[in-house]
Amino acid sequence: MTTNKSQIFFTFVGISTPMDTIYYADIILPVPLPRLFTYQIPKEWVKEVEPGMRVVVPFGNKKYYSGVVYSLHDQKPEAYETKEIISLLDKEAVVNMIQLNFWKWIADYYMCTLGEVYKAALPSGLKLESQTKVHYNPDWLPDGKLNAKETIVLDYLADKKTGTIQDLNNITEMKNSLPVIKSLLDKRALFVSERLKDNYKPKTKKLIQLAQEYWHEQKLQNAFTELGRAKKQLNLLMVYLTMIGGAHKNNYGKTIDKNELKKKGGASSSVLNELISKGLFVEVEMEVSRLDTEKLQTKALHNLNLAQQISKQQIEEQFAQKDTVLLHGVTSSGKTEIYIHLIQEQINKGKQVLYLLPEIALTTQITSRLKMVFGNEIGIYHSKYSDAERVEVWNDILKKENYKVVIGVRSSIFLPFDNLGLIIIDEEHENTYKQFDPAPRYHARDAALVMAHMHKSKVLLGTATPSIETYRNTQLGKYGLVELFERFEGMKMPQILTVNVREEKRKKKMASDFSPLLLEQVEQAMKNGEQAILFQNRRGFSPYLECAQCSWVPKCDYCDVSLTYHKHINQLVCHYCGHSSSLPHTCKACDSPALHTKGFGTEKIEEDIRIIFPDAKVVRMDLDTSRTRKSHENIIGSFERGEVDILIGTQMISKGLDFDNVSVVGILNADSMLNYPDFRAFERSYQMMAQVGGRAGRKHKQGTVVIQTSNPDNPVILDVVNNNFKNLYQSQLDEREAFKYPPFYRLIHLTIKHKNSNTANQAAEYFGTYLRGLFNDRVVGPQAPPISKIQNWHIRKVMLKIESGVSLPKLKEMLRSAINTVVSHPGFKAVVIQADVDPM
Ligand code: ADP
Ligand code: ZN
Ligand code: ZN
Repeated sequence: MTTNKSQIFFTFVGISTPMDTIYYADIILPVPLPRLFTYQIPKEWVKEVEPGMRVVVPFGNKKYYSGVVYSLHDQKPEAYETKEIISLLDKEAVVNMIQLNFWKWIADYYMCTLGEVYKAALPSGLKLESQTKVHYNPDWLPDGKLNAKETIVLDYLADKKTGTIQDLNNITEMKNSLPVIKSLLDKRALFVSERLKDNYKPKTKKLIQLAQEYWHEQKLQNAFTELGRAKKQLNLLMVYLTMIGGAHKNNYGKTIDKNELKKKGGASSSVLNELISKGLFVEVEMEVSRLDTEKLQTKALHNLNLAQQISKQQIEEQFAQKDTVLLHGVTSSGKTEIYIHLIQEQINKGKQVLYLLPEIALTTQITSRLKMVFGNEIGIYHSKYSDAERVEVWNDILKKENYKVVIGVRSSIFLPFDNLGLIIIDEEHENTYKQFDPAPRYHARDAALVMAHMHKSKVLLGTATPSIETYRNTQLGKYGLVELFERFEGMKMPQILTVNVREEKRKKKMASDFSPLLLEQVEQAMKNGEQAILFQNRRGFSPYLECAQCSWVPKCDYCDVSLTYHKHINQLVCHYCGHSSSLPHTCKACDSPALHTKGFGTEKIEEDIRIIFPDAKVVRMDLDTSRTRKSHENIIGSFERGEVDILIGTQMISKGLDFDNVSVVGILNADSMLNYPDFRAFERSYQMMAQVGGRAGRKHKQGTVVIQTSNPDNPVILDVVNNNFKNLYQSQLDEREAFKYPPFYRLIHLTIKHKNSNTANQAAEYFGTYLRGLFNDRVVGPQAPPISKIQNWHIRKVMLKIESGVSLPKLKEMLRSAINTVVSHPGFKAVVIQADVDPM
């Protein structure tokens, strides 16, 4: 099939190129150098190479990389001799032109290299490097079409099970085994390392077929005679023949599902296996896609109620004038229902839709809601899916096969869409849309806005608690604004109560971390057969160990942070580098054995709640309990089904989950959020409290939120209590302007790192002075951040605050060259400087 296509291509395009011109390709390679690499295209491939195709090229002395062709030209580079492309991995581009432009924008705006974008954008299965590990697939069924080189590689791997591409170069004595590996990957004889990590095996179905030598009436007769005494086997053969529609030459080759055959024939595995070992039956394995592509039974859309209809209409009217609209709708107003209607319209128009969510935890609920309507037209794309599944979604979108809608987290903006009509960015205020490490440090919402522009597609931002930046854009008229302040079916907004924990503690009324009011409310809920959610944010205290004598606290050996105590594994764990150690028996400062656990995290809360409510079923959801996709789904599912009474969790539970039997939500420690040293602390606290609170409430009954704080008069708490977003917005805006923060000023954080603290200091000083020379008082720092050592790297920070009106591309160019000057300074060897544009 593919050969035909390239031949057609050849005849169409191969008209006007004079054969003596030499052609070059600029290639994106996964190396941290800020440039493209020019390679010569061998003559015979000149007409085949296209931007967006993957090619293999030599790099340095011994290495080979697969890279993506960025552009083609006939300009011989002056500075160096070009090498030739070794092989083409694709017959057609796997990355389209819009994507390449988008990659370029990301690299420029977020100050990283195209190679870094390439690494982030493609699922591992589409990237191959010398160090990539490949594995033998034990379930692979040979089909006899391997060439000599493929056989060598496969024999080696069948024996060793795994090897790097480098190893395979060596054993095959091939300069480069990538093309061979690629073809074995395509045949699924091998898979790359990430798939193994996810335990990837192609999902298969076992089928039974009559062995070919019995595809004759006479031969079959003989078989019957031979089986004569083995009654059960004879019976099974008969059942098989009935199932294929009778012993007729048109039917002989037909296959029957193995399990079905066993069931219909009432036969055990041993009976069937006998027939297989006698050579009458053969077992055929067929791969079934793990992305459910069977046609699902779908249901009609819900009708929108009046308020929702009006909102939808307003959204459409706004779209007539503006590319971006914010849907500011309170929790449970039915935003998702409106999205579903808008998606349907895009599908009817033959357009693609990207539905972005900030968190994997959310995709479960939304996916099942959308699947009910759109069935197998929905693709899901996030990191908890195996790499193989991600490759399948990528290819599906590329070839425009099944999926019209993709639900995904931030990395799904990299999929090869080419016909986007709408991007929905749900919970647009969420800071998890920002990628922190590694580069590209992009904000998926902001990048999606740029991508939408490239596709001429519309963007709908949705949230109950808009970010200050987005809301301001509506006020400036850049974005449309649609407000939906009515909950579905007249459900009331929850009543919000505050408890002054300082007072309660003084009066000795706190039972561990719970106020009497909160316990009363939870108890009432339990009596009524309702559910409760207790929220403790991750940034709050986590349990740690402290010496009762001298207050010594164990710290990480590699990072400047105290270790967190994890009860279930009885270990101290560093939340920055993951290093864990066992508990010391005595204090390392004073030798006292009086070491006590302090602070409270979700684990401690869980333990206490189980003691206070011994009959309640309690579940905890945080990073530790929900590492895998299944565990997320299980926790959410069991809570939805009412198998759990009390859910304890971190911000994970605050995000757009929709439960209908929760009458109480407790926010255990509002202060730790409010006191966090960040200019966004108030905004975030508001969002978090309003979002978690929004989980409370049932169809016919108002829910209750209890906020525990030592400062009930804090203006943010008052804004939450009064549900007054506009007040929060105005006060935040005033503050941001006064202190030169976004949206009035743009920020760029620069992180200077070195293993030696002196060098880190000196480089930071030098860099700071250098920048001040360029940008004057826009430079803040250098400073040591609150956590100034992570994994033995000493960290210093410089911040740039840039007023509007400054040309950002020019500024970034100057900044890039300043960074280069510092890192190439002989005194600052091995200093690393990272830029984070629009940090969150
Ligand atoms: P939001 O996204 O604004 O938080 P949802 O779309 O999740 O709100 O709606 C809250 C609940 O109300 C969901 O269970 C949803 O199925 C239900 N709901 C909302 N609108 C409708 C509608 N028009 N018809 C039927 N159910 C609806
Ligand atoms: Zn001590
Ligand atoms: Zn550490």
